Amino acid sequence: MEKLSDIGTIKQILSKYGFSFSKALGQNFLINPSVCPRMAEMGGAREGVGVIEVGPGIGVLTYELAKRADKVIAIELDKRLLPVLDETLAEFDNVKVVNDDVLKIDLKKLIEEEFDGLDVVVCANLPYYITSPVIMKLLEEKLPIQSITVMVQKEAADRLCAPLGTRQTGAVTAAVNYYANAEMLFKVSSGSFMPPPKVDSAVIRLDIHNEPTVETDSEEMLFKVIKAAFAQRRKTLLNTLSNSMPYEKAQIAEALSASGVPSTARAEQLKLEDFASIANEQNFLQLNEIDIEKY
Ligand code: SAM
Repeated sequence: MEKLSDIGTIKQILSKYGFSFSKALGQNFLINPSVCPRMAEMGGAREGVGVIEVGPGIGVLTYELAKRADKVIAIELDKRLLPVLDETLAEFDNVKVVNDDVLKIDLKKLIEEEFDGLDVVVCANLPYYITSPVIMKLLEEKLPIQSITVMVQKEAADRLCAPLGTRQTGAVTAAVNYYANAEMLFKVSSGSFMPPPKVDSAVIRLDIHNEPTVETDSEEMLFKVIKAAFAQRRKTLLNTLSNSMPYEKAQIAEALSASGVPSTARAEQLKLEDFASIANEQNFLQLNEIDIEKY
């Protein structure tokens, strides 16, 4: 549908279908016509590319993706939007809307079945109540995707894109850094949405590494150390690790000393290599094998 991002058209469609926004599903729809074309371009939607979109809403971003990419699969949980999308995307034969929960769907299978021979990217204005779980699912499942371009709350964008070793980081920053390079693309004010959310937003892109940037003996242990280290971010590593992991303080002190990371350091001062050195410590790994059920 032409002029889909025009506020008048959007209001007309919503009223035609008697649509009411669901707060629980994070429904803030884009009404700023300049945002979706930029997102689609910077997200890599072009010839030879298949795009996975999470939460198409009434299809404003889907429209721009479908114009540029070979194929778009849009995963939408809210059944009420299916007839709307049928109408707004009627002119495209390269779009498929899948009515499912992004957190439950088998994305590996979907990619195999739908994107044969295409490079695959993710591009979405995410429902904010599941920002981190969606991003972590896309990364942890090691899908054959090249990048993830997503609109998230500005605060989440700042955290995800902050360089490790600085105060804005969190466990999710370190985890994302293991898989990808995160870049802030542009900010979007809350007035660009209907209804306007309480906070501003930003579009970020995660370019997935072909190989992880640090070597680890056990990814599971690396992520346990990262989560435990950030559990009480203002405390020293010695204290927060011994409070959050099932080991004696002396064992933690020994592992930290062997890894060369000062036990007085705080999680927000560490680089990914530091987390990996701690996780790779022989003592930790042996204990991990014995005590794994207790964690
Ligand atoms: N892409 C549209 C736009 O930019 O105007 C809508 C974005 S809105 C922030 C988030 C969308 O995600 C909504 O359409 C909502 O129904 C959908 N959604 C919420 N939870 C979902 C889930 N678990 N799986 C798939 N879609 C979901």
